[in-house]
Amino acid sequence: MFKKSVQIGSISNIPIKLHISFILALPFIAWIVSTNIEMMAEIMNISYSDMVVPDYILGLLITLSLFISVGLHELGHSFVARSRGQEINSITLMLLGGVAEIKEMSEDPDDELRISIIGPMVSLAIGLTFIFIAQISFNIVMPDIIFFILYLGELNVFLALFNLIPAFPNDGGRVLRAFLARKRNFLSATKIAVGISKAIVFIFGIIGVLYGNFILVLIAFFIYMRANQEFQYSLIKATLSNLKVKELMSKDVSYISSDLTVRELLDKMLHHSHSGYPVMKDGKLIGCVTMEDIRTIEKDQHHNIYVDDIMSTDIKKISPEADVNKALQILLEEDIGRLMVIQEDQLVGIITRTDIFNAFKIKQIEKKL
Ligand SMILES: [Zn+2]
Repeated sequence: MFKKSVQIGSISNIPIKLHISFILALPFIAWIVSTNIEMMAEIMNISYSDMVVPDYILGLLITLSLFISVGLHELGHSFVARSRGQEINSITLMLLGGVAEIKEMSEDPDDELRISIIGPMVSLAIGLTFIFIAQISFNIVMPDIIFFILYLGELNVFLALFNLIPAFPNDGGRVLRAFLARKRNFLSATKIAVGISKAIVFIFGIIGVLYGNFILVLIAFFIYMRANQEFQYSLIKATLSNLKVKELMSKDVSYISSDLTVRELLDKMLHHSHSGYPVMKDGKLIGCVTMEDIRTIEKDQHHNIYVDDIMSTDIKKISPEADVNKALQILLEEDIGRLMVIQEDQLVGIITRTDIFNAFKIKQIEKKL
């Protein structure tokens, strides 16, 4: 999901990344901000005619600072998560704000409450501080600076309030779930919180349509989809919570040798309807080859190219004793279809996305009976 991003640095070992949507949106947002400067100055009681910095520079500075503020908000989440013993993968700044990717979100309501609430608190603190500084320096410093500080302060307060709306994936939605989870299990808390989220974004959507505000409709749609996704994910996690990888993996692994040609590999795939194979050499697992690796090879090369040339040697593996949820998490994070199950350096099985989703469906049917 975050593949289309570039890392620009790191803060206390947390990689900070920019998503492609951020890079594309930046000039557009800066342009919107800069065209509204005269109107905003009037609202803020700042004399626009006394301002000397060109609108587009001020617009760009405000937009950049806004994204830095979003970054600080995400750092707030990250530091608290870390203090609760959780690992942080990265912080990604994107079109609609930022995401702190926490490796495995705790299901402890107390943790979730602290981790979620801190982001809006950081934004609120920055916002109120800036507004206060602007108030006491009115008529002391040049109006451009007052405008910049006050605008940024107000944007941060807006950021805090927007994030507190109790709808997934907003922080407010997580705070709500944390409260609900104190008296019931995680899944039913999620169910109620997602229901509330959907009701809220539905109202947003209606308001957007009535007032012709399509950005609002779009945001409502986005939040709706994410709320659904959150629920599905929680449902899968809860359903598979007691399963181990060894219970779902296929044990009779068919593997291939690295000196097979692509042509021979394709025949094997066709006859056994497998889309990927582990590659063995001298009884050792040395790689993995999938349909994807073959796709780019010209047909007339199928006889001359060997598995050895195209296989990936970066083997994604898991222990048979690991939880199925852990396997699913790796599959989704790495965006791959299968994991090699390794025990004491031996390949003992393979677990695929299909194995996991089938197990999920079966468990769902079992529950209904
Ligand atoms: Zn947040």
